[in-house]
Amino acid sequence: MDFRFTEEQEFFRATVRDAVDRLIRPQVQAIDEADAFPRELWREFANLGYMGLRHPEKYGGMEADVITSMIFFEEVARASCGFSMALTMQLLMGTYFVGRFGSEAIKERVLRPAITGQKIGTICFTEDQSGSDLAGTRTTATKQDGGWVLKGRKQWITNGPIADFCTVLATVDPAKGAEGLSFFLVEQGTPGFSVGQTLHKLGSHGSVTGELIFDGVFVPDENLLGEGPGNATRYLTGILNEVRVMTALNACAIANEAMTDAAQYARARVAFGKPIAQYELIRSKFANHWALYEAARLFAYKCAWMIQEQLDCQNECMLAKMLATEMCQSAVDEGCRIYGGNSFAMEYPQQRWFRDARFLLFGGGCHEVLQNALGAAYLRKGKS
Ligand SMILES: Cc1cc2nc3c(=O)[nH]c(=O)nc-3n(C[C@H](O)[C@H](O)[C@H](O)COP(=O)(O)OP(=O)(O)OC[C@H]3O[C@@H](n4cnc5c(N)ncnc54)[C@H](O)[C@@H]3O)c2cc1C
Repeated sequence: MDFRFTEEQEFFRATVRDAVDRLIRPQVQAIDEADAFPRELWREFANLGYMGLRHPEKYGGMEADVITSMIFFEEVARASCGFSMALTMQLLMGTYFVGRFGSEAIKERVLRPAITGQKIGTICFTEDQSGSDLAGTRTTATKQDGGWVLKGRKQWITNGPIADFCTVLATVDPAKGAEGLSFFLVEQGTPGFSVGQTLHKLGSHGSVTGELIFDGVFVPDENLLGEGPGNATRYLTGILNEVRVMTALNACAIANEAMTDAAQYARARVAFGKPIAQYELIRSKFANHWALYEAARLFAYKCAWMIQEQLDCQNECMLAKMLATEMCQSAVDEGCRIYGGNSFAMEYPQQRWFRDARFLLFGGGCHEVLQNALGAAYLRKGKS
């Protein structure tokens, strides 16, 4: 076993950290308060080439391995959870299906400009009546000569209000449930495609989230992403594994920021004649956090390695997401307790981590749903 990152990965982490500290960190408070998409920052990150992290060099990408991409997701989330969400949507889910199944023409028209940051992408699963339960998808795709007609609405779409293109989950046969689902590429400007309401979120400001409307949108056959209609679920495991590990490392990043900052506060804040860092009950918070943080982060990177080695790791990725996200909820809660009343002031950062961390509970799968699947898997398991 070797727990070290490679020299290239360490160098990559240092480079990303430098960009994050220089470009994002000074603006974090302003991004949170503006609650808007920071377009100039987006351009700066695009110019650094990161938007093509996982895509082939042929289209302008970096062709980075899975672990390297997870290092990127962890580093970016250290500064701004919201901007990191906008970026990860573009790098991972928003361009995944186009990159994997798009024709050469689609890749030139959509993927290449996404890698340069000129076009913004997203993925649309969620609807008003289906979030966790994708088999309940009501957006329909009906076959017509030369293509498909999409009808439905999608909610809670990250980058949705500013998206130039989106990968839309729709059913080609509602009677078949999950077996009837397919992904379709829809581009801005296609008749019938429009943006609905933009949502005002509790946290993760810096990404914009909203509703997308598909009112009889015709797309040509080549916009069906994947082999044949009704095959979407076949491709979901691969992308969900990566999304879950990415979410786990986002959680580690936020937790680490919150508790590092809380440690600084605890050393400086005096109560009853000495710094609160000298009280055992305060010290135990850091000890407990440290243990859970190390375990969660190590396990998340183990999962990244398993994905990279193409090992079967669906359950492990769900566990990693659950473990890290719950660890993060506890860390941001403890960080606020250490700050006392000051945690309630918008001028201090603890409240932002507290708000941002809530999203991690749903992105990549709600924990109750993961627990159902994991509990069943554990009960099926033999002795290990
Ligand atoms: C900031 C933000 C950004 C998002 N971005 C996107 C995006 O870009 N694209 C996209 O498609 N979606 C996006 N989403 C939506 C997200 O994926 C969903 O919120 C998530 O899938 C959960 O679905 P839901 O909210 O409908 O909850 P529901 O599925 O309605 O669940 C509600 C509650 O019921 C529980 N529950 C559900 N089923 C079971 C069960 N079988 N057993 C026990 N408990 C159960 C859940 O655990 C949860 O506690 C985003 C959400 C947020 C908050």
